[in-house]
Amino acid sequence: MDQRLPVQGAQGDLLKLVATGDAASRADLARLSGLAASSVSLRVEELIEAGLLAEEGSGASRGGRRPRRLRLSPTAGVLAVADLGAHHARLALLDLSGEPLVVQERPCDIAKGPEVTLDWLMAAFDDLLAERVPPDVPLRGLGTGIPGPVDPATSKVVTPSRMPGWNDFPVAEHLATRYDLPILVENDANLMAVGEARAWPGSANLMVLKTGTGIGCGVIVGGRLHRGRGAAGDISHVRVRSDASVVCACGHTDCLEVHASGAALASALAQAGIDVTRTADIVTLVSDAVPEATSLVRAAGRRIGEVLTALVNFFNPDVVAIGGSLSAAEPLITSIRATVYERCLPLATRDLEIAPARAGRDAALLGAGALLLDAALAP
Ligand SMILES: [Zn+2]
Repeated sequence: MDQRLPVQGAQGDLLKLVATGDAASRADLARLSGLAASSVSLRVEELIEAGLLAEEGSGASRGGRRPRRLRLSPTAGVLAVADLGAHHARLALLDLSGEPLVVQERPCDIAKGPEVTLDWLMAAFDDLLAERVPPDVPLRGLGTGIPGPVDPATSKVVTPSRMPGWNDFPVAEHLATRYDLPILVENDANLMAVGEARAWPGSANLMVLKTGTGIGCGVIVGGRLHRGRGAAGDISHVRVRSDASVVCACGHTDCLEVHASGAALASALAQAGIDVTRTADIVTLVSDAVPEATSLVRAAGRRIGEVLTALVNFFNPDVVAIGGSLSAAEPLITSIRATVYERCLPLATRDLEIAPARAGRDAALLGAGALLLDAALAP
């Protein structure tokens, strides 16, 4: 079976309107697309013929004839998406509307290098597809988040921290050796930002922080992901004020990352004789009121807040949403908020929300689904 979506251009736009839930009838499609009713009908018939749309039952009555209801066909296809972290990967299969059919977390060590990690990922996808998806439902696209900068032009990973062997590795090309499908490779914080933005309807400009082993940030401008040259939102190597001079993997001193990331806090705790194996352990220490952990997290929040102060003054976002495994430590968000509100221009903070991320642990997976659907339907 041809697994590429046989629909692009206007047909793709109509399919997307149904997939996103914006349209549920031919009349909705005509109204939202601006196409004539006759040409909407023609394309809808083609989409039904192709097994992508189903039309049945009745929609809301408007007095006269009840409009038939359009929805995605259950056999329209699935998307396979992953969010690779330093030690764990979350994997999911989504239907074309972005709804998760299954989500799993599996241990995975990206320090083993790109070939081993990506081959493992493809095998994991194959397992999930064999277990959960009937053979007549095609895979329509595949995407993964990477915890490092990704060049949008080449889909290569560029100078990532804590990812030995990944620099300049052609991730999309490697995945394409197995799958002849639209493939998405994107920085994990960017994916998280796209997923999180869906949880803030009415807010067009967002900064979404991912505070975990590293620190990342995705930027949504006017409702769309802002990639810049590929490193937009990468706040990890912004210099912060510090008494100690700590050298970062990038070769400079006193980057935000070496003072406020989960990895930095873990090594500071180790020096105090407290061993943690993952960032979530730091959150547990804070919940248990271990003073060393609480004061380190609070200091990290202040440093992140200082960097955000400049960015909030400059960008004036509607929302700063803070997610990632370290964000569950309450003092982190409290001290970020205090620093930003204290130091920013009043006009920049008057209606600004600084809040825990809403979309939950699967934000990046949902973001990957949304971007992948765009890619699959793009001309
Ligand atoms: Zn650095």
